[in-house]
Amino acid sequence: MASIMQKAFTVVQTLLCHAACASIVLYTLPDFGIRPMLQPSLSALTTIVEQIARTGDPRDVMGNIVQRLRELMQVDVCSLYLCTPDHQHLILAATEGLSANAVGKAKLKLDEGLVGHIAASLSTLNLGDAPTDDRFVFIPETHEMPYHRFLGVPLLHLRKLIGVLVIQGRERDPFPQEAEAFLITIASQLAGTLSQLQSQGGWYEKRSPRDGYRRFTGLKGAPGLGLGKLWLVRPHLSLDQIDAACSADHDAEKAAITAAIIAVTEELESGSGHLGQHLPGDLNALFSVYQMMLQSPELSQQILARIDAGDNAPWALKQTISAMAEQFRQADDPYLRARAEDICNIGQRVLNQLLSSERPSIEAPDEALILAGELISIADLAEFPLHQIHGIICTQGSVLSHTAILANALGIPAVMGVEQFTPEHHRGANVIADGHRGECVLNPPAPLLAEYRRMIDEEQRFMQELERLRDQPAVTTDGFLVNLLTNTGLLADATPGLQRGAEGVGLYRSEIPFMIHDSFPTEQEQFGLYHKVLKAYAPRPVNMRTLDIGGDKQLPYFDISESNPYLGWRGIRFTLDNAQLLISQIRAMLRADVDNGNLRLLVPMVSRVDEMQSFRRYVEKAVDALNRDGHPVRMPEIGMMIEVPSAMLLLPRLAPYVDFVSIGSNDLTQYLLAVDRNNPRVSNLFDHLHPAVLVALEQIHQQCEALHLPVSLCGEMASDPAAVLLLTAMGYSTLSLSAYNIPRIKLLLRSVSRESLQPLLEQTRQCNSETEIRALIAPLLETVGWSQDKRPGLLAKGAETAP
Ligand code: PEP
Ligand code: MG
Repeated sequence: MASIMQKAFTVVQTLLCHAACASIVLYTLPDFGIRPMLQPSLSALTTIVEQIARTGDPRDVMGNIVQRLRELMQVDVCSLYLCTPDHQHLILAATEGLSANAVGKAKLKLDEGLVGHIAASLSTLNLGDAPTDDRFVFIPETHEMPYHRFLGVPLLHLRKLIGVLVIQGRERDPFPQEAEAFLITIASQLAGTLSQLQSQGGWYEKRSPRDGYRRFTGLKGAPGLGLGKLWLVRPHLSLDQIDAACSADHDAEKAAITAAIIAVTEELESGSGHLGQHLPGDLNALFSVYQMMLQSPELSQQILARIDAGDNAPWALKQTISAMAEQFRQADDPYLRARAEDICNIGQRVLNQLLSSERPSIEAPDEALILAGELISIADLAEFPLHQIHGIICTQGSVLSHTAILANALGIPAVMGVEQFTPEHHRGANVIADGHRGECVLNPPAPLLAEYRRMIDEEQRFMQELERLRDQPAVTTDGFLVNLLTNTGLLADATPGLQRGAEGVGLYRSEIPFMIHDSFPTEQEQFGLYHKVLKAYAPRPVNMRTLDIGGDKQLPYFDISESNPYLGWRGIRFTLDNAQLLISQIRAMLRADVDNGNLRLLVPMVSRVDEMQSFRRYVEKAVDALNRDGHPVRMPEIGMMIEVPSAMLLLPRLAPYVDFVSIGSNDLTQYLLAVDRNNPRVSNLFDHLHPAVLVALEQIHQQCEALHLPVSLCGEMASDPAAVLLLTAMGYSTLSLSAYNIPRIKLLLRSVSRESLQPLLEQTRQCNSETEIRALIAPLLETVGWSQDKRPGLLAKGAETAP
């Protein structure tokens, strides 16, 4: 039995993950003894899940689920009851077998009838003659009289009851044990999807002409309000993922590949499109090598010959590129061998073009866009002119995914993890990305649209007003001065930091340029980039962090596939193992510092003393070597990030090797709480105000004071007003945050006294949960005009008037 359920579980889970997968091996589940003893097959399950994936309207999806389940289990009735938003009632949300008129009408209290009993007791009920049970309540709208056999299971998602799933039959004996176990398994697998549908609302209302208007809830990725046309961003398929496929329409395939090659050639001619703005100028040399390769007759001829032989264009491209890359790899000459990588890069670009008719051309009309997709990569963002991106909606990812962090830095409103949203069904629709509330609004009706426009205007005016604070210090009313530095990564976002009064760069995420590159940038390319950043901020300090890839930060050209990437090859672990990369990065940074003098090096993901010892040695050697070569570089200050609990516990032993400490509260929270920062399922458990995180932060501050180590904090916590108040009370006097948030946090700090925060900190020391802590701080934030949802008071008020 256990193994049967295990198989069912695995199979359904796989299907839920790969609903659109075309080739699923058919697998027959065992006979459940259900009349008329037909076996439910996996193909039927597949269909249920495919329906889930394809259908947009929650009512249709729920209807499909009960219909397919009834067929699959060969029962007379399958019904789904869902809790109302106030959690007071259960409503029949979909049924196959009971009267369709009862859908949306049949309503039970949470402890009423058999269904209510299941909800109240959170347990399964399997009866042979339901109408004779004391708890049975007849609901006239359903016409359910002839059914005796009754099996119901509760639907629970993330510890919360969302409804009850019921099957019924005419027989007078309970359902067999296997059916019970199967329904429990199905219920647990469907609960997540049903919970999303439930949270969309509208499933128990009559269809109305306003059907196009919907709200979807996600996570607050980056604050702000954006309005624009939905632009679907599809994930790039990599050349490796292309499978053999044929096409009979040779002419169409040839036309498509030729057009793609021409488009990439033109893109290269114009300096790699929008990406070019963010990349060092010397990349142009690489572009001309690419252009030469693209225009070589062999490439086109080989692809076209394969298409003539029956291959479709992507498959013909993949084979040609692989064959050519292999030829280069065999060459004796190292220069020619290195071209293998270039030819693969070209192939990838042509493939992107071939598959991405959705993507705007460089001449795309200058229209406000909301980019929506599963996860929008940094490279995706770089394909659009910044002024065109008014918002980002990701169906996956969390507040701390790097897309959200970049959106924050660039001041683009972002909503993450909107799992129930299917952007592919709404291309071109009007959509609002409300990063304050973590919500997206599809096809808002005219009055709501007008209200959002008003709020966007108001917010812009508010930001302009904040500009007057640019040159004012972030000082509390009783004179405690906080240095507000900025987090940055793209050259393009140096300007917002300076415009918003950043007093330096607290965190330069050097991996971001690596992520929008086509291959590892050379030392010279890096030098050009770092020099621009250091120069833009000089004489203000710039903490340049060495490459921190791994986790959710992957390089398109260097695959690190690990089953547990956050505990794997990340940050300093990766760079120490790939010392050539680390050395060229350190050298580029040191050289870039020569005429600026404001570089400080920062090391990510430190968890051991020997990592800092080795790092320091690499820097000393690089300084010596460069000095010998005539570069007048100096030994910069070296800092380490505290992100891993072991670094915090070993602080006194690490202190001899570091000049300053910067706390990465995103990772520190993740590793202290064992909560994946990027997993929407546990995002409710991720909070930097968790009491354990606060204890850790107080300890770090005290230890750093005792060790005379300057300490700052650069995670997203520094943008959270409640957290900023507590950090100020603890004594943190340097914070690094996204440029967008600097004026707001400055305004906040200038409106409180540090003394008034001390009793608040004392009270939070007694709290057992982040909810209690937030509740304690909320009244103070309200009094200084800061609403719960990070919005300045006037905007929060405006939002309440929205229908
Ligand atoms: C952090 O972990 O808090 C941090 C600033 O680093 P990143 O978000 O880039 O991992
Ligand atoms: Mg980190």
